[in-house]
Amino acid sequence: MYPPRYLIPTQSTTDKQASAPCLPAMFQQAFLDLPPIASAHGEVTLPGSKSISNRVLLLAALSHGATEIHDILASDDTQVMRESLKTLGCEITETGTNQLRIVGIGGQLQNKTAKLFLGNAGTAMRPLTAALTLMATTQGGQFEVSGVPRMHERPIGDLVDALRQLGGSVTDLGQAGYPPLRLGDGDTHALQLDAPIAVRGDVSSQFLTALLLALPLVATRDVVIDVVGELISKPYIDITLKLLAQFGVHVQREDWRRFTIPAGSRYTSPGQVFVEADASSASYFIALGALGSTQGITIQGVGLDAIQGDIRFVEAAQRMGADVTGGPNHLCVKRGAWPLKAIDLDCNHIPDAAMTLAVMALYAQGTTTLRNIASWRVKETDRLSAMATELRKLGATVDEGDDYLRITPPATPGEWRPAAIDTYDDHRIAMCFSLAALNPAACVVRINEPHCVAKTYPDYFETLFDVTTPCVGQVPVICIDGPTASGKGTLSQGVAKALGYAWLDSGALYRLVGVAAEQAGLSTTVEALADPAHAATVGELARNMAVRFEGEQVFLGGQDVSAAIRTEAAGMGASRVSAIGPVRAALMDLQQGFVRAPGLVADGRDMGTVIFPHAPLKVFLTASAEKRAERRYRQLISKGISANIDGLLADLKERDARDTNRQHAPLKAATDAALLDNTDLGIEESVQQVLSWWQSKQRKT
Ligand code: C5P
Repeated sequence: MYPPRYLIPTQSTTDKQASAPCLPAMFQQAFLDLPPIASAHGEVTLPGSKSISNRVLLLAALSHGATEIHDILASDDTQVMRESLKTLGCEITETGTNQLRIVGIGGQLQNKTAKLFLGNAGTAMRPLTAALTLMATTQGGQFEVSGVPRMHERPIGDLVDALRQLGGSVTDLGQAGYPPLRLGDGDTHALQLDAPIAVRGDVSSQFLTALLLALPLVATRDVVIDVVGELISKPYIDITLKLLAQFGVHVQREDWRRFTIPAGSRYTSPGQVFVEADASSASYFIALGALGSTQGITIQGVGLDAIQGDIRFVEAAQRMGADVTGGPNHLCVKRGAWPLKAIDLDCNHIPDAAMTLAVMALYAQGTTTLRNIASWRVKETDRLSAMATELRKLGATVDEGDDYLRITPPATPGEWRPAAIDTYDDHRIAMCFSLAALNPAACVVRINEPHCVAKTYPDYFETLFDVTTPCVGQVPVICIDGPTASGKGTLSQGVAKALGYAWLDSGALYRLVGVAAEQAGLSTTVEALADPAHAATVGELARNMAVRFEGEQVFLGGQDVSAAIRTEAAGMGASRVSAIGPVRAALMDLQQGFVRAPGLVADGRDMGTVIFPHAPLKVFLTASAEKRAERRYRQLISKGISANIDGLLADLKERDARDTNRQHAPLKAATDAALLDNTDLGIEESVQQVLSWWQSKQRKT
């Protein structure tokens, strides 16, 4: 889950400010700066398809019998569907990682009234509207469906018209033709199923999908749906039909104009269902391979035989030059033609993945035209206008038509611009623009509100960083040094969280050495460590420590030492072992190895002076000894640990003196460090100060 896992735990019994209560919400990440990417290589296992997951959830819930669903997507949109189904009385149990068991309601309402909040999930809003209208009308229920403000701007009128033709009761609770809606009026009514139901197919194929998913619930006779207008996004209808068949409903299709649900259709659980990985999400890694991988990116979970229409993105990418091979459940993509070839393509069959083509067009020779994409205007945002605006920020020339985009890339590397990409609460904009980080000018690409990827791919950026190599020297490190209890940990975590960076608490490593030495029976007294042979042994132990970080926990040789390293005694031990050269040398490589995209905030005593001397921002954090002792005292007391303020002050001064006067890496501010005295500053103010220094550094570079 983004932001990245921290490298050192922050919770547990501790004598440090770093374990302070949850950080304020203001540290939530507002943007993510992507360091320029040099190349890509590795293997990606994609999350489950959103379209399949939400359809299967609904089908399993409406069925007779229980269904075990494997590889289900865990994301905002599927969470919304799951919550709704639970509210409707469905029993859902987690039976493993991305695995659920759903006991279906067999088409019979368990709860006859409910208010459902569906966020911005179109794949929940449309089918639930249809299914609940039909069940409420025939069984006497009444439901309300609503969403975020953008959902209330996404049209649903054509579906509502079709439901009303059937005799379904639907009331607009806001603007006519848009959610929120009331479904059913609490009374029972008969439906008129004898005449064909007309539904428009040229705005969103989800209206037809919604009817196809709902009508088997009431198919006491053959029910016929006629599509009015040219049906868009046919592959999504294909997915719907295939999944219906898995649940025992075999719809007859005549061309793409008429669909008949046979009389007596009844949803029956197939027992088990496996969800294919998301083919639209695959598009980002297919593009990544085509743009930056000579060795190849392997994509697991979706193959050339996928049932999702967006798999045909592969053909479009191949036309642009991608070298794609694949089998039943995987793809392998490499750079083929380079630069890419410009294309002119009707994208009606791959509406979501086509956004990725728009960013690939930045790397093509010539002008790329993407046609027949008017449906982009009614998605999470008006994607046509959003894509045009954001592509222009990067230096492209873009012609935005009613239903097409024509994209001419920057003519030379020098014409690329470092841009802050707005994402409009649209996961796909965030993900496809991450590919701009491969730009030939090595510009940093800022993605605003990066958390929107959680709609379909919560781990997207983590995965991207796992399979890409940043340009040399382009992953920033922010160093925060200072004396004990100055609040480095809390400040560093706040800055790391705000920037989405990893956090290295180097003090924890020295604490680990002290604890490991004790466990090994090696003395850590000042006198014992004065013996060079003994010091060398402790150094050797530090070099070979079997340390493992797992989320918030630290393990030493398999034993959880998270709490043990956080005691006052461990702090004093760390202060003694950290004074000797062999230990410092042993931990040098380990600490430098923590640098990873998108960046690192490192706190300690010598981050800026010794470990990362070329860091672009160094901060030296201080506070008066009395203030630091008082903070630590309050912290310990609040945790129910007894403490004596005079004793704490004395310990703290002893550690300060040893850290400052030692021969190796004495505590001092780097000559180019910014000084921050936080004696009278709150944590928010300190974090804001560091962030503003960071921003002004970036403006200069
Ligand atoms: O910051 P913390 O209190 O966890 O650090 C424990 C001890 O480790 C410090 O008192 C200091 O002596 C030592 N240390 C160090 N260099 C670092 C971090 C910590 O010498 N980079």
